[in-house]
Amino acid sequence: MSTTFWQQGVDELEAAGLGRRLNRLESGQGPTIRREGRVVINFASNDYLSLAADERVIDAAVRAARDWGWGAAASRLVSGTFTPHRTLETRLAEFFGAPAALVFGSGYHANLAAVRAGAGKGDVIFSDERNHASLIDGARLSGARVVVFPHRDYDALNELLARHAGPVRRLIVTESLFSVDGGFASLPRLVELKERHDAVLCVDEAHAFGVFGDHGRGLAEMQNVEGRIDMLIGTLSKALGGAGGFICGSQALVDWLVNTARTFIFSTAPPPAVCAAATAALDIVEQEPERRANVLASAARLRTELGDVRGHDLSTTQSQIVPVVIGDPARTVELAEQLLDRGLFVPAFRPPSVPSGSARLRISVTAGHEPGHLDTLLKALDELVIRSV
Ligand code: PMP
Repeated sequence: MSTTFWQQGVDELEAAGLGRRLNRLESGQGPTIRREGRVVINFASNDYLSLAADERVIDAAVRAARDWGWGAAASRLVSGTFTPHRTLETRLAEFFGAPAALVFGSGYHANLAAVRAGAGKGDVIFSDERNHASLIDGARLSGARVVVFPHRDYDALNELLARHAGPVRRLIVTESLFSVDGGFASLPRLVELKERHDAVLCVDEAHAFGVFGDHGRGLAEMQNVEGRIDMLIGTLSKALGGAGGFICGSQALVDWLVNTARTFIFSTAPPPAVCAAATAALDIVEQEPERRANVLASAARLRTELGDVRGHDLSTTQSQIVPVVIGDPARTVELAEQLLDRGLFVPAFRPPSVPSGSARLRISVTAGHEPGHLDTLLKALDELVIRSV
């Protein structure tokens, strides 16, 4: 059988301006990085608190690798649960004030598991239309009926919940901070709807955990709904600068996940050192609130300068994720390349990561960015983008 379809497929993507290729970093993550032979200012990572290269986190990983070996070499249920896994789970549960927490190999795995735990065949999932691919895939794999509601349109969700009343389980799924728009869900509204309609609520705090809330407990803390979300998901891969994901909830939820979650049962446990590093990063989240203050101050400055001062439409964002929507994918890639020429790494996000027609430069700000980094970015955007859109 001919396998030319792969080449054809790639050619078609290239022709539509949607081709992707890997680039290579020659340094660790940070506000500046070495990328393909040159040092650039980095607005392309989710290392929001600048912990990916923090010495204390690295030391914790190194020590744990020496104590426990590198690989877990088995799934969690076989012989892959080590002290660092249990320590991290206990710490995460304490941090969020939840009865229990369970760690997964990635946030993607955690999301597949959470959605599947909340709904199965015969049930209905209500999913925000801008939800991350991992939540969408979880909904597809669950076997439940999926009802997509318009982005953050909770009146529409209310009607849909009423329309699908009946003896089925109903699960509401949302991100708290939407990863490519930078805007917030209204968790109080969602809690009110889930209580009114006797539904279950699953919230992915991937981009808000560590950054929002006085203590970094995410949007649930900031919007004052802690303890009222049935399944709270986070990643260890963004503000904590590492890898892995987790679900917090009741002890019964965690017991159910241990018994049924396929991405937990059929995947090798994350290395113990990864968990030890995440625990060290969580300590820093607690001890150094100035990191949150820094990232939020820089993000606020960027939003003001781009939006209020230069009149760019930043209506979707309220956070450290600042999208500059260009529209055309090829033009967006061209702009990203021109920014690189000026020493700035700002990724071009194109469909399917964003809705068709809304290709964008996705600027993400981190705690380590200095005012001068933002000055350079604003100057370059002035020259290249603001005039062209
Ligand atoms: N949820 C959201 C909203 C995300 O943006 C991502 C990753 N970009 C994930 C989940 C998956 O997390 P991880 O990278 O840890 O697999």
